Amino acid sequence: MRIGVPKEIKNHEYRVGLTPASVKELVSAGHELFVETKAGSGIDCPDSGYQKAGATILPTPEAVFEAADMIVKVKEPQPSEIALLQPRHLLFTYLHLAADKAQAEGLMKSGATCIAYETVTSRSGQLPLLKPMSEVAGRMSVQVGAHYLEKEQGGRGVLLGGVPGVAPAKVAILGGGVSGVNAAQMAVGMRADVTIYDINMERLAELDMFFSSQIKTAYASRDAIARAVEEAELVIGAVLVPGAAAPKLVTRDMLGTMKRGSVLVDIAIDQGGCFETSHATTHDDPVFEVDGVIHYCVANMPGAVSRTSAFALNNVTLPFALKLAGLGAEEAMRQDPHLAMGLNVSGGKIRHEAVAEALDLPF
Ligand code: NAD
Repeated sequence: MRIGVPKEIKNHEYRVGLTPASVKELVSAGHELFVETKAGSGIDCPDSGYQKAGATILPTPEAVFEAADMIVKVKEPQPSEIALLQPRHLLFTYLHLAADKAQAEGLMKSGATCIAYETVTSRSGQLPLLKPMSEVAGRMSVQVGAHYLEKEQGGRGVLLGGVPGVAPAKVAILGGGVSGVNAAQMAVGMRADVTIYDINMERLAELDMFFSSQIKTAYASRDAIARAVEEAELVIGAVLVPGAAAPKLVTRDMLGTMKRGSVLVDIAIDQGGCFETSHATTHDDPVFEVDGVIHYCVANMPGAVSRTSAFALNNVTLPFALKLAGLGAEEAMRQDPHLAMGLNVSGGKIRHEAVAEALDLPF
């Protein structure tokens, strides 16, 4: 298969679809790789690394789309990229079509086969190509929380781990899924006083076993959350109700009970956020303050650590890319029903039931 990797053009997107190591794997499997010049510059991988891995460097996105039959990216194609897609193309990337009718219509018009990372499933019913980004966001949430708790940043002037003779800060993590557990690992590592709140008792039992006495767990009742918010210096919102907006667990009233200079990190902001006072922010201007409480609500946290994120993403996408390139899309999806769940668009039609429903388009 002839595989192309264009440079990402979405604002502030520094990741790349394939790292040089992934290119090398695909070349070893007999495929031809075409990489746009500077595609890896945002993760500090120069053209020379891609050439060494066996890729041909091309000067423009037009040249990449022309040379390749399969395109591997990170973010959804922008209008100038959709214009380059043809029916012979297989596109493998994040699409997030459910909230983007214009993109869906563009992809349908292109006639290309489009497989979305975010709807590929695993045997346990999870979304394995989203998981590494939740891991990154969870781990980063404690890092940014600790930063904004510093006095210089407008925070309460508290060190998460305390010191001998001074108690550590209290960290409340709402949601004990992938991002919540990764946040807990970082907070425990920094010696904070950590409690995870969830409504899934099985999950709380697992976390209790996993962390033993390093954390506390609590059922996420309104009362428990109200108390948590009042006492905590750092609150991390990490809930997810699949396919729905995040529940507003921390209300405007609760905010008034928080200590001045405490910090909220709303990881769930990409689903609307789980604090009533949240609104999405960007890496350019990541925080705002309500009632003296700092809110960090960046919707693409992994973008800030593009190198880690690109490598983490490649770890999970490469096996599927090898399968798609080796067998062709049709046969690869026939053999792997979880990969088939990633099919969003082909032959001018939406092929994913939930996406079609969300867009009010025929399936
Ligand atoms: P997950 O499914 O692994 O975990 C979610 C957890 O929330 C589950 O354990 C669930 O039981 C719990 N939950 C659901 N409703 C709850 C409630 N009312 N109270 C308490 N707990 C509740 O999800 P995840 O992968 O950790 O993702 C969490 C959110 O982070 C998602 O919205 C995801 O899209 C988002 N995310 C954001 C970024 C970013 O950059 N901001 C990056 C990656 C992921």
